[in-house]
Amino acid sequence: MKALVLRAPGAPFTLEIVPDPVAGPGEAVARVLACGSGLTIQHYKAGRIPLAYPRIIGHEITGEIVEVGAGVGGLAVGDAVTAYYYLFCGHCRMCLANLEPLCERSGGNVGKECDGGYAEYIKLPARNFLRLPDGLDYRAHPAEIGVICDALATPYKVNRRTGTRPGETVAVFGAGGGLGIHQIMLSRWAGARVIAVDIAAEKFEACRRAGAVEVVDAAHSDVVEALRDLTGGQGVDVAVDYVSSSATLEQAVQSLAVKGRMVTLGGAGKVFRVDAMQMLLKELDLLGSRYVTRSEVLDTLALVARGELWPLVTDIRPMAEAEALHERLEQGTVIGRAALSIG
Ligand SMILES: [Zn+2]
Repeated sequence: MKALVLRAPGAPFTLEIVPDPVAGPGEAVARVLACGSGLTIQHYKAGRIPLAYPRIIGHEITGEIVEVGAGVGGLAVGDAVTAYYYLFCGHCRMCLANLEPLCERSGGNVGKECDGGYAEYIKLPARNFLRLPDGLDYRAHPAEIGVICDALATPYKVNRRTGTRPGETVAVFGAGGGLGIHQIMLSRWAGARVIAVDIAAEKFEACRRAGAVEVVDAAHSDVVEALRDLTGGQGVDVAVDYVSSSATLEQAVQSLAVKGRMVTLGGAGKVFRVDAMQMLLKELDLLGSRYVTRSEVLDTLALVARGELWPLVTDIRPMAEAEALHERLEQGTVIGRAALSIG
C-alpha cells in the first residue's frame, strides 16, 4: 500500500510502498478514504512529541472495513467506520466505567504508538473502529466525517464536562484553532452565547460564522477586562482554554463569573497561579478534559447524521501534498480542520 512515512523527528514525509497490514486476532483492517490533519499530529511530525520511527501518523479517519481477524464480533467487511484515538485495554476499572481515555493500561494513541491513517489501509484493535450511523454520506464527504471523532467530539465532551446550559456565556480561548472553531459551534449548539478569544485576527470572521457573537483580540486588548465588559461586569459562566499557557489559564480563571467553570485541554498545559479565595468566594470549578469516550464519539456522529452540526474542513489535499498541508498547520494558517483525501 501507499503510505506517508515519518522516519525521524522533523523529517518530511516519504510517500512509500509498504506491506499491506494483516489483521491478527482481535484486530481489523480498514481501507482509508480520508484522514484529518490537526495540530496534534503536526506536533508529532515536528518532533515536539516523541515517536518511535518509522511511523505513520493520523487518526481522524473515514474508512471501510476490508478484513476482520479471528475472534472479532460485531464488525464486518464493508462496514463504514471511523477510529477511536486512544488505545485502551477494555478491562480496567476506568475502561469498565466507560472512561477509556483514563485507561490504567493505555497503549497510547492511534498514529503515535501504532501506525495510523496516513496510508491506504489502517490496522487497529477491532474495538477502536466505530461504525458510522446511517444518514452520514461518508463517500461524498469522507474528510468531514473523518474529523468528527476528534475535532467535533472533543468540544461535545467539553460541554458535558462544564455542564454548559442554554443562556450561559462561554469564552473560547484559542477560538480560531481547529478545535476552537468547533467548540464555538458546539457551545452555540448547546444554547450558549459564545465569545471567541484569539490573537489571530484573520480568523475572527470564521469565528463569527461558526457562531461567536463577540470576538476579543487577545493580542491588542486586556482579555479579562474585555470579557467583563461584554458580560456587564459579571464574567463568563464557562471558559474553555485550548491554548493553556500560564497567561491564558490565569486570564480564563479571572474571567469567570460566580459559579463559573474553567476547563483546560490540549495546548501547552502549563503551570498557572490561581487565587484560592476567589475560587471559594465564587464557588469556581477548575476542570481538565481528556479526549472523549467511544460513546461520546457515537453521540457526535449521530448529531451530524441528524443535520444539527457540520464540521469545518477548509483544505483537503491528496497524499502527495501532505508536506505542504503540514506546512500550513505549522504556520497556523488553516481555518478549521485540514485533511488528506486518500482512498
Ligand atoms: Zn483500561
